[in-house]
Amino acid sequence: MLPYATAAEAEAALGRAMTRAEAAWLCYSASMPDHLLYCHNVAILLLLYTLAPLPLALLELRARAAPDGVAAAVMRPSTYKLQPRAHLSPAAFLRCYLDTGRVLLLTVGTLSLVSYPAVKMVGIRTGLPLPSAGEVAAQMLVYLLVEDYLGYWIHRLLHTRWGYDNIHRVHHEFTAPFGYAAPYAHWAEVLILGVPAFTGPAIVPCHMTTLWLWFVLRHLEAIDIHSGFNFPFNPTKLIPFYGGAQHHDYHHRVGGQSQSNFSSVFTFCDYLYGTDKGYRYHKASLEKAC
Ligand SMILES: [Zn+2]
Ligand SMILES: [Zn+2]
Repeated sequence: MLPYATAAEAEAALGRAMTRAEAAWLCYSASMPDHLLYCHNVAILLLLYTLAPLPLALLELRARAAPDGVAAAVMRPSTYKLQPRAHLSPAAFLRCYLDTGRVLLLTVGTLSLVSYPAVKMVGIRTGLPLPSAGEVAAQMLVYLLVEDYLGYWIHRLLHTRWGYDNIHRVHHEFTAPFGYAAPYAHWAEVLILGVPAFTGPAIVPCHMTTLWLWFVLRHLEAIDIHSGFNFPFNPTKLIPFYGGAQHHDYHHRVGGQSQSNFSSVFTFCDYLYGTDKGYRYHKASLEKAC
């Protein structure tokens, strides 16, 4: 809840006129308790999870229904689909969506209700001024690097015998991933992966709007690497060291025995710790065959 009753009070405290974004934020959040603002992340997550994978899911279903159509052409081995022989039925899509939605609602919803004191303690702020674009970009970069590094080691632990058999095997049920399978996981894994996601904001506290943006970014990234498609025009190809769908698809394709490609965002942890050797050999074999 912001400590200003009017725009004039807010501008007096800022010592300048508000930007349009700040005026909109004041209007939206002035009388809303901070813990409710924080809980927006549950709605953001569920909305994003429902909508972001939908276009490619419809493309896959369309290709299945009309094998001679444009959608089917995109799915052919010579085009963009990474595992073109893998086809899911509408019922399988729906089961994955409903199971994942239920787990996300229970785990992320509960976590959001109980973790607000920690969010407040680390210094996530809701007031004015809003952060600059440069500040947001720098924080996103830190959060991505922290999540990538911690996530790499957590993922490796989840591939130990105990971690895999008891937790991580659920995420590997789909050997040919697709967008809706990105957060498909055991409830314990969803909670565990919250640690690398929150460590960045705990080290470098941000504004609540930046935290929302961080949730959006990391969920979009997860959906992208599980998409099952390697589009050459994907703008993420411009990001240095970004792993992308091809990198993570190999991890799923190899399956439970996979000891390769543990990184979720960038490729340098796998390179540094030598866990991309199988993938590099696989890529080299594909290039030789072309
Ligand atoms: Zn794995
Ligand atoms: Zn995965």
